[in-house]
Formats: sequence, structure tokens, C-alpha cells
Amino acid sequence: PFSRAVARSAELEVQIAATPERFRVLTGDRPTGPLHLGHYFGTLANRVRLQQAGVDVLVLVADYQVITDRDVAEDLQRAVTGLVLDQLAAGLDPERTTIFCHSAVPALNQLLLPFLSLVSVPELQRNPTVKAETEATGDRAMSGLMLTYPVHQAADILFCGANLVPVGRDQLPHLELTRTIARRFTQRYGPVFGEPDALLGDAPLLLGTDGTKMAKSRGNAIALRADEDTTARLVRRAVTDTERTITYEPGRRPEVASLVLLGALCRGQSPEAFADEIGAGGAAALKAALTEAVNERLRPMRARRAELAADPGLVRDVLRRGDERANGLAEATLGRVRDAMGMRY
Ligand code: ATP
Ligand code: MG
Repeated sequence: PFSRAVARSAELEVQIAATPERFRVLTGDRPTGPLHLGHYFGTLANRVRLQQAGVDVLVLVADYQVITDRDVAEDLQRAVTGLVLDQLAAGLDPERTTIFCHSAVPALNQLLLPFLSLVSVPELQRNPTVKAETEATGDRAMSGLMLTYPVHQAADILFCGANLVPVGRDQLPHLELTRTIARRFTQRYGPVFGEPDALLGDAPLLLGTDGTKMAKSRGNAIALRADEDTTARLVRRAVTDTERTITYEPGRRPEVASLVLLGALCRGQSPEAFADEIGAGGAAALKAALTEAVNERLRPMRARRAELAADPGLVRDVLRRGDERANGLAEATLGRVRDAMGMRY
């Protein structure tokens, strides 16, 4: 019933509230560092909201995708634990939401083989997000895993029959490929997979303190778990301009606008109202207000995270349960795939 990429629309909200059981959500993150405000307003807030609405939510820890653009996965154990704690602190409830790891679900990964046969190499090479991410990793050659990771994502989404995928804007090309793979599989072998929709958050592309996409790997992110002083320091370093009057003009003043937007999102205000409040105070006043807004918004999450982190077995238990459920779903789907492909001997 929805277009390919849907923003939070009134129609969708009504359908979710009326029939949450018709929706299944799959989304995930690479365990490459602390979750930041871009994650929160891009996708995490939506995950929590859907969970509260009674939708079946699955959250993937994409550990195999860590090595798309680096040689070794450095201290994966710590990165995974930190990532899951960030998610629980933000409001994901392991009683209701399934949190699991790529590496623990073999049947999911096996879907890559038939899926890879459904796409061409030039098609993969045209993916704009993969291109941008490869450029961001400097001059190392693109790995085969990097080239094919959008296909892996199709397996992530389709193994559990998800129909709604809360993501940031960078993920839209991958969603499109997932839909293509589902369609081609149906044409070739029969109907096993539906075509999912992307759900964009309140900030589908939040910029970091340097005015480019806020990302873990770029040193421009405000981590959800950062302390208040670190937050203040990061905001102080943010790029602005020399105009005294603060306005919200994303086209003309992208750096200032992204800081205004961040403050407004944290306060639950419109960016125009947040900018008006600062008025002629200039960059210093903007940064002071932003620091306060971020710290205030994140204070309860940070306190909760400290409590959760004190329980050493918590993340292991959450993942064990999540992995078990994901394996059940993946094995059932792989069985249907093998039937459709005539692989029963
Ligand atoms: P990395 O630099 O390691 O790739 P990342 O910050 O891009 O890290 P991912 O784990 O790749 O984070 O992305 C997880 C999810 O968060 C995706 O759905 C992505 O679209 C979303 N996301 C990441 N950064 C932003 C951002 N700046 N604005 C909005 N959404 C974002
Ligand atoms: Mg990324």
C-alpha cells in the first residue's frame, strides 16, 4: 500500500496503530563504534516507536559487514556489546524486540548464494552508496564483500519477511535492490518474498560537526553515550559561518542548518522556532543552546546505559535469545527457497 520510501505519514501511522501485526520490521547497524545522534533520529527512534506500537521488530548486528572496508575487525566483542547497550539504553526492549548477529545465523547467510545470481556486476557497481563509502575509505581497492554487501542486506531483510525497514537516506539504493531481488526471485522460482518499504526517520541524513554525513567512521559524530563535557567539546568544534543571525536555511547555510536541526530534534521543536530563539546571538549562542538541548535529551538514556552496563551477562543473554529466534525464521525461509528452486533430492 505504500510507496517505495515512505516518510512518517499519517496514513502509515493509522495502519500501524490499527494493525501492528501486519508489519514486521528489520533494520541494523555495523558494530563499528558508538551509536550517534544520526542513528537516533535517522532510524533508532523509529525502531523504538514501532516496538511500542506492537510491531514485530528485528534488529541486526551486522558483524560480517565490519570487514567490508577494513582488514580486521578490531575488538568485535567490545563493539558488539557497546552497540547492543546503546540500543537497549535508547529503549529497545529485548522482551519485545529480537536483537541478533549475522555471524550466528548461517541460513540467513546462505541466501546470499541464490541472491547473487539474480544481480549483475555492473548493477552492483552502479550503487551510489557503495561508491561513496568506498571513496571514504581512501585509496584501498573495493573488496568483493563491499561490492556485494547490499545483496547481503537483501538477505537480512527477506529472510524474516520484513515489510518495513527504518533506515537513513543512504540506505535507499539498497532497499531498491532488495525489492529487485525479491521480484526477480518470484519471476524465476515463484512467490517466496514480498517487496519491503523503507521508512525514513525525522532526519534521514543528519550531518556531523564537519558538515558531512554524521558517521561513526568520520570522527564527526556525537555519540549517544558520550559524557556531557565531551558533547560540549564536540559541539564547540563544529563548523559554522560568520553571520550573526541564526536562521534555518539548509540550502544556503548547510552547516548552521544542521546544528539548528539537531537542537530542534532534541527539543522536539521546529528548526525555525529553535533558530528564532537564538536570533542574533551568533554561533556561540547556537552552540551553547545545542549543547544543552543534546545533553538534556540524552541524559536519561545515558543514565540507563550506565545501569545496564553494570550487568555483565545482559548482552550475551539478549543475543542468545535473539539468535535463536532468527535461526528459526532463517531455516524456515531457506527451506522454502530450496523447495522453490527444486533443491530437494
Ligand atoms: P559507518 O561509518 O561504520 O558505516 P554509520 O554511522 O554509517 O557507520 P551504519 O551502521 O552504517 O552507521 O548505519 C546504521 C543505520 O543508521 C542505517 O540505517 C543508516 O541509514 C542510519 N544512519 C547512519 N548515519 C546516519 C545519519 N547521519 N543520518 C541518518 N541516518 C543515519
Ligand atoms: Mg554506514
